[in-house]
Amino acid sequence: MRFTTRQIHEGVEPDPITGSILTPIYQSTTFVQSSVDEYLDKGYSYSRSGNPTVRVLENKLTALEGGADCSCFGTGMSAINAVMMAFLNAGDHAIVSDVVYGGTYRLSTKIYSRFGVEFSFVDTSDAAAVRAAVKDNTRLIITETPANPTLKLTDIAAVSEVAREFGIPHAVDNTFLTPYYQRPLELNADIVVHSTTKYFDGHNATVGGAVISATQELADKVRYIMNATGTIMSPQVAFYTLQGIKTLSVRVDRQSQNAMAVAEFLESHDKVEQVSYPGLKSFPQYELACSQADGFGAMIWFEVKGGLTAGKQLMDNIELWSLAENLGSVESLITHPVTMTHSDVEEAERKRVGILDGLVPVSYTHLTLPTIYSV
Ligand code: PLP
Repeated sequence: MRFTTRQIHEGVEPDPITGSILTPIYQSTTFVQSSVDEYLDKGYSYSRSGNPTVRVLENKLTALEGGADCSCFGTGMSAINAVMMAFLNAGDHAIVSDVVYGGTYRLSTKIYSRFGVEFSFVDTSDAAAVRAAVKDNTRLIITETPANPTLKLTDIAAVSEVAREFGIPHAVDNTFLTPYYQRPLELNADIVVHSTTKYFDGHNATVGGAVISATQELADKVRYIMNATGTIMSPQVAFYTLQGIKTLSVRVDRQSQNAMAVAEFLESHDKVEQVSYPGLKSFPQYELACSQADGFGAMIWFEVKGGLTAGKQLMDNIELWSLAENLGSVESLITHPVTMTHSDVEEAERKRVGILDGLVPVSYTHLTLPTIYSV
């Protein structure tokens, strides 16, 4: 079965008791056991450890990413937190993409640093730079590709090769492309992380996260943290996400077509300074975008001429796009990373990695493309 069929049918069986075609929301804290000796014979004990509705989503995501197992979380950040907690101890070092969602940067620098974990924010578009950053105590590599917000790409296969050479797990945040366009485990990554809030939900209805691992051993370590820290996704959110995923390919294809049309329009516009979109031939990593993924995605990053004033004017007057955080849903959103998604990244670090502010803080904008709006 192709992806487009599996996104609907994989892991979902009609309810054996009622025939309900949709997986029911098992809104129950606890599950009655047959006897002490047959504890867990039906697979569930308590909804912090596992829930039947959530499990159906986990099985579907495992299949779509081609992994061994998955755990679903209350948010994308709790998924990333579980990966860090599973593999990092005090005194360890982790390599993280220099351009990365602001929340991942914040978790690393403001929380894990308090517990004696050291981070290097490395240009993971350069596998040699990743290799050079590996230390004796490096225990985890986290990359995000395309990266939020500049869309810089990591060569997943090249970084995975470095990770394997040193026996370090490589986790890839695949939120921007989803397994429909990019499957990091096929490129030898060990773990895939998602904010299901984005394209899987697709309707701005829920927040959620997922971690899919290539081996059961890795998956068990992540699930242990999920249970211990109490960060499982709720059955209600799993239900909505299961409905969203059924139309994933249709939405993402249309959103990407729209993104390409808007990127080309912006590139030829005389009031636009520069446009970054992996589908444009002018994108510095265009070849990698074509070889590593089956599509370019629906995020555009662009700068208008005229600095602060022009940027503010655009953000305050744009029609149809709403000024809001989030991405990947059918609504069109425009975001200003410096004041919104990346506000906790220090100015010097933002400048170092190209999330520009200073004289032109709002001229860099971030567009999420809609499904239904046809350009
Ligand atoms: N990863 C990426 C690439 C994101 O863009 C985001 C949120 O914007 C997250 C992770 C965090 O996900 P959540 O907001 O669901 O916690």
